[in-house]
Amino acid sequence: MSTANLTIDLSAIAANWTNLNKLTEVETGAVVKADAYGLGVARVAPRLAAAGARQFFVAVAEEGVALRRALGPGPSISVFSGHMPGDAEMIRAASLVPLINSVDQMLLHVETLPGHPFGLQLDTGMNRLGMEPAEFSVLREIALAQLPTQIMSHLACSDEPPHPMNLHQLGVFEEMTAGIDAPRSLAATGGVMLGEQYHFDLTRPGVGLYGGLPFVDATPVVTLDLPVIQTRDVEIDETVGYACGWVADRRSRIATVAAGYADGLIRAMGTNATLTSDGQKAPVVGRVSMDLITVDVTDLPFEPESLQLIGPHQSIDTVAEFAGTIGYEILTNLGARYNRVWLA
Ligand SMILES: *Cc1c(COP(=O)(O)O)cnc(C)c1O
Repeated sequence: MSTANLTIDLSAIAANWTNLNKLTEVETGAVVKADAYGLGVARVAPRLAAAGARQFFVAVAEEGVALRRALGPGPSISVFSGHMPGDAEMIRAASLVPLINSVDQMLLHVETLPGHPFGLQLDTGMNRLGMEPAEFSVLREIALAQLPTQIMSHLACSDEPPHPMNLHQLGVFEEMTAGIDAPRSLAATGGVMLGEQYHFDLTRPGVGLYGGLPFVDATPVVTLDLPVIQTRDVEIDETVGYACGWVADRRSRIATVAAGYADGLIRAMGTNATLTSDGQKAPVVGRVSMDLITVDVTDLPFEPESLQLIGPHQSIDTVAEFAGTIGYEILTNLGARYNRVWLA
């Protein structure tokens, strides 16, 4: 078998949820959008529920339907994109809570699903989703009279604690929600780290559950092992890969491993990347191609059967740095071809 092995440690995800929960005095939700950041929502969400999570968040109603199937009745499922045209039947059938983003969405919601629970999403400066102060003031009394399940907003710069935007958004959120009884939520993973004043009644961590920054103490969740298909000797001045992207300056042993950019191993990683064998680094040489990567294993003490990209020696954030991106993008691009194994 030459497909790579992607191992997902569900107990590490549960431990990360428990440890994020311990960092606050308030309820901790779980963000499982984008198929639980690429790790398989049907396996991940029930494990989070078993750990104690009762409030789940997804990006769109379709994800909520799949999540309800995985979780069964009971846990609450909120939808960040709110109530979009065509969503009513999914919201009703799967008992989803749309986080209403505009007056138009509120009108659509009360027309199509009168009495169905909803939450409110405010824009406190990110300018992405939610009602700004002027729009909210139009709706405020009518919406609050119908008892929203929660009222939330999202921080733009929470992974940079000293950024003045954090305190600015905190102030705007406090002002917009003053005197409101509904549970309030502002913090994703970064907001949990910012401290108690950002916690309100409910936190919404995502990436920290999956072992990523800014949760610096996260337990690693993902291991990615790439089988070596072939190893060859390359003489001085011979080249490796497309565009003759690498030239040997010594006699080298080059291993070809079974994964490439079609598996989410971003081409931009190029020769910044290393793989590991028992913790020892082996540099990527030449271009990342669609299904294959070539690696210099000359200095390894033995010929490896597989090389590791993500694991105890290289976190998702280390791999993200190779490509000049963030751990979130590495996770959500993990390829469909991998042989996924979930450790209970
Ligand atoms: C994705 C998202 C989260 C989770 O963010 P992390 O940084 O992954 O913890 C929380 N709230 C909203 C609105 C989001 O879009």
